[in-house]
Amino acid sequence: MISYRLSDEHEELRLTVAEFARDVVAPVIGGFYERREFPYEIVARMGKLGLFGLPFPEEYGGMGGDFFALCLALHELGRVDSSVAITLEAGVALGAMPIYRFGSREQRERWLPDLCRGERLAAFGLTEPGGGSDIPGGMRTTARLDAGEWVVDGSKAFITNAGTSITSVVSALAITGGSARDREISAIMIPAGTPGFTVAPEYSKVGWCASDTRELSFASCRVPESNLLGERGRGYAQFLQTLDEGRVAIAALSAGLAQGCVDECLRYVGERSAFGHHLAHYQDIQFKIADMEVRAHGARIAWYDAAARLHAGEAFKKHAAIAKLTASNAAMDNARDATQIFGGYGFMNEFPVARFYRDAKVLEIGEGTSEVQRMIIARQLGLGKAEPDGGSGGT
Ligand SMILES: Cc1cc2nc3c(=O)[nH]c(=O)nc-3n(C[C@H](O)[C@H](O)[C@H](O)COP(=O)(O)OP(=O)(O)OC[C@H]3O[C@@H](n4cnc5c(N)ncnc54)[C@H](O)[C@@H]3O)c2cc1C
Repeated sequence: MISYRLSDEHEELRLTVAEFARDVVAPVIGGFYERREFPYEIVARMGKLGLFGLPFPEEYGGMGGDFFALCLALHELGRVDSSVAITLEAGVALGAMPIYRFGSREQRERWLPDLCRGERLAAFGLTEPGGGSDIPGGMRTTARLDAGEWVVDGSKAFITNAGTSITSVVSALAITGGSARDREISAIMIPAGTPGFTVAPEYSKVGWCASDTRELSFASCRVPESNLLGERGRGYAQFLQTLDEGRVAIAALSAGLAQGCVDECLRYVGERSAFGHHLAHYQDIQFKIADMEVRAHGARIAWYDAAARLHAGEAFKKHAAIAKLTASNAAMDNARDATQIFGGYGFMNEFPVARFYRDAKVLEIGEGTSEVQRMIIARQLGLGKAEPDGGSGGT
């Protein structure tokens, strides 16, 4: 028997985050979004709630919870705002998780406590200006050993949480040896402020406007040899594993956005009138909202399923890709329909559905595009090329 009923602890967490999103995030996030400002105070309060430490053991400052708990939090935040949700998702699932999974005890003890408290943020440097889907094929960043230090040269594109004043470290994938046909790829931890590590100004983005996304460059950037994260030559495999989990998390965020569209429409159609009736009176509107609810529900079940497999220690790669594809489609479709239901107001930034519309598109791009998810699913079904030659699918 399969049960998707939440445990008491998970339900309590869900309600706590929902209340936080409603009372703390919703009233102010539109202003941060318009000003394109990173919401440090909100992030600090999320830290105090323990959200950044959810899936990590208490010995590293975490809450001793699980990955499902993180996904639940992302779902509830995503219902209200994606900028804060992606800051949490990228900080935990992409930033801190590889340090926990692959780091030495010393690295965990050095970096994780601050990250778990949300006082610092870590970033995940995979994508490069020359290509995200085609990693490692399109990778150019290199790191060579010299006098006990890695010397890193190259650049990374579109890296979330990389340029805030509380960013502590970026884990970057680099070519560390091998031949042109068989490149050795490793993950190197590059602390913020390292000489030769430059962070470009924030991109001008269509959505996620209150989150931090930067291009990074490394020019003879030297870090100690001990900043190797995990095993030398295993960086690509480590990042792929990180991405599989990350896709479940981004699916949860996307399902949250899809549900948030339903929430907003239910409120609006009971207030707005046309032709003498509330919008809720018209069957076309009812059917649109019913379809939105169907998509949001399907998206939630898809990420629950992938997270349950992850939690049980079962293979979940295909299900993570299915969840990501299902939920990002649901988010995009619901955002389009919600904007339509709001009419002209749906095109005004002061209404959350306008923000949802702008934020939904990137969910079909980040952590592997929709095409890449289909590639992964097809390969898992035995079709097409086997990994690793076919690329990681980006982040
Ligand atoms: C706001 C934002 C935040 C991000 N955060 C991070 C981060 O924290 N860390 C990080 O490393 N990256 C991050 N990314 C990068 C993101 O993961 C990449 O943009 C994504 O993987 C796609 O890579 P690309 O942009 O290079 O597109 P490309 O790989 O150039 O793809 C372009 C198009 O071609 C399609 N395509 C490519 N190959 C094929 C193929 N073989 N068959 C069919 N279609 C194909 C793609 O699906 C896409 O539609 C972020 C991106 C954004 C926009």
